[in-house]
Amino acid sequence: APVIEVITTAAAGSSAAAAEPPKMVEVDSIHKRFGQFEVLKGVSLTAREGGVVSLIGASGSGKSTLLRCINMLEIPNQGSVKVDGESIRLTTNRIGEPIVADQKQLTRIRSRLGMVFQSFNLWPHRTVLENLIEAPIQVLRETRAEAIDRAEALLERVGLAAKRHEYPSFLSGGQQQRVAIARALAVEPKVMLFDEPTSALDPELVGEVLRVIRSLAEEGRTMILVTHEMAFARDVSSHVAFLHQGRIEEEGPPQEVFLRPRSERCRQFVTAHH
Ligand code: ADP
Ligand code: MG
Repeated sequence: APVIEVITTAAAGSSAAAAEPPKMVEVDSIHKRFGQFEVLKGVSLTAREGGVVSLIGASGSGKSTLLRCINMLEIPNQGSVKVDGESIRLTTNRIGEPIVADQKQLTRIRSRLGMVFQSFNLWPHRTVLENLIEAPIQVLRETRAEAIDRAEALLERVGLAAKRHEYPSFLSGGQQQRVAIARALAVEPKVMLFDEPTSALDPELVGEVLRVIRSLAEEGRTMILVTHEMAFARDVSSHVAFLHQGRIEEEGPPQEVFLRPRSERCRQFVTAHH
């Protein structure tokens, strides 16, 4: 009898919600203003452990700002951001601008987030290997030897072990971006944030970077990804959010957002970009 009961409960779906993976990033009603201009107008977003959340939307809709608010490269004026269950404490300065209340807490929380930018942002005067070992030594307090071991394993993983002593400018854009991904992974973040990681690349180099990102998705990494690669987003995402003028206009599973969008704006966007 107890066995049947369990099966019945699961089939009815009533226990499915309780079994959802924990929330790794929880953005709650954030607003962000630049001067008078409100770029984010109350955005909430959740990324659960092992999930891939894609942010899509027109240029200027606020995707980068939203991503940058998660690791506090931009400080929201209102609302909260929780990473791995911990709320980032914010306050305001004397002229009323939002600031981080506790730099130590931010440093700690940031080490749980790996960020990859459109423009790679590698340190040009350091070799590939040096780019990878800096944060583990500074942030995780690893020894140089430990950091090098980890870096070499990561370079192997992104297919660039042979380039470890090169300087970034000797690499193609696709290779530089793969190094940037390896560098972000080097602090063993709990969540990876990608801001249009392939949009600065020549078309023939996009695939090698998407393959690395896909492999991370397949191994169950939690990720939030801003992308214009709609087919890729449809394939790898567990959840898609469409931003329009600083609001999430539509969100849901990729099959719904891409194939059966409820909002007309979303429908137009995905039709124009497929
Ligand atoms: P997206 O990534 O979707 O293209 P962004 O988040 O970069 O959009 O930008 C959203 C809007 O906010 C744009 O109109 C942009 O010009 C403006 N914006 C972004 N960053 C700043 C900033 N630091 N100062 C002033 N305006 C900004
Ligand atoms: Mg952007």
